[in-house]
Amino acid sequence: MLTVQQQINLAVEQLQNNEVVAMPTETVYGLAARIDSEVAIKKIFSIKQRPFFDPLIVHVSSVDQAKKCVTEWNELSDFLAKTFWPGPLTLVLPKSDLISDLITSGLPSVALRWPQHPIAQELINRVGVPLAAPSANKFGRTSPTKAHHVKEEFSDSVLVIEGDSSSVGIESTVLSVKKQNNIYELAILRKGSILKSQITEVLSRQSFKYQWQEVIDKIESPGHMKHHYMPSIPLVVCRDAKLKLSELSGLLNKKLNELPDEIEGVKIIKPKSDIKKIEFLKLSSDPTQAARELYSQLRAASLRSPDVLCFIQTSAHTGEMWESVFDRLYKAASLILD
Ligand code: AMP
Ligand code: MG
Repeated sequence: MLTVQQQINLAVEQLQNNEVVAMPTETVYGLAARIDSEVAIKKIFSIKQRPFFDPLIVHVSSVDQAKKCVTEWNELSDFLAKTFWPGPLTLVLPKSDLISDLITSGLPSVALRWPQHPIAQELINRVGVPLAAPSANKFGRTSPTKAHHVKEEFSDSVLVIEGDSSSVGIESTVLSVKKQNNIYELAILRKGSILKSQITEVLSRQSFKYQWQEVIDKIESPGHMKHHYMPSIPLVVCRDAKLKLSELSGLLNKKLNELPDEIEGVKIIKPKSDIKKIEFLKLSSDPTQAARELYSQLRAASLRSPDVLCFIQTSAHTGEMWESVFDRLYKAASLILD
């Protein structure tokens, strides 16, 4: 058994040798490779079975390192980086030549984040170049927030640094920052734990001219599949909180045909006969805690092999942080019942 420090030392060696390793971050565990190694970056895509059209986030360990990855580091990005980094905010900016088309799926922009987790920071510092790192799970599946989740995904094929559970628990907020004629255009490409209201609030005390863009097109927000984060057992999100258990199970049995056994290439274990065992996901009423425990609950509940997983949405699930949690729940769901 290696100590965590020995695992980190080995990970540095492996990263230097163009291998990929799984590292803890405060959002979720990431599958990391050095950005200057095409061989290593290709390994991320092949191990994850991730399509090349889904770009990777580049993880840095300083603002200076981030600046080298972009052609233009504007003042608003500098301010947001100083306010929210290290932390779960990803900035999308025009890429420099340091960043390959493989990383950005051919886009002219790069997504950058300085993670807060000390182990992620140590790896980036010691390797000396930024690390590209998507979540350490097979494409389309539930993200990992604990080391053993990653081991369940990839068995022994990847070195996993056994850090603590991810404290945030959902992926970073992805923010596109564009500057046109001295006006910044901001767009949230993916919701996360840094909320739009927090960004608006910190910017309100500054003199930047900016506007929010609401419309997100496919090119600007690539890799955003309709489905994602899927557990192996079908997840049903029920938006009618008044349904009794017997009514819910009757309804589910009627809808059995609507449950697919594969979604966007990801296999789902569809119940073969009547649904008898429903496993209810019980998330904390505090959305920050709900985000923290979401993926481990989805994974643990699936391992108990029920016929379906079910989450009941109620009127209490309102507010921006819940929106970030529901972004994941809806994408993970095989069926949404109204
Ligand atoms: P993850 O799967 O957590 O690594 O997150 C990657 C996601 O970040 C992608 O699916 C995109 O939605 C977003 N992303 C990464 N790079 C870019 C980019 N250059 N432009 C816009 N979005 C990006
Ligand atoms: Mg992912």
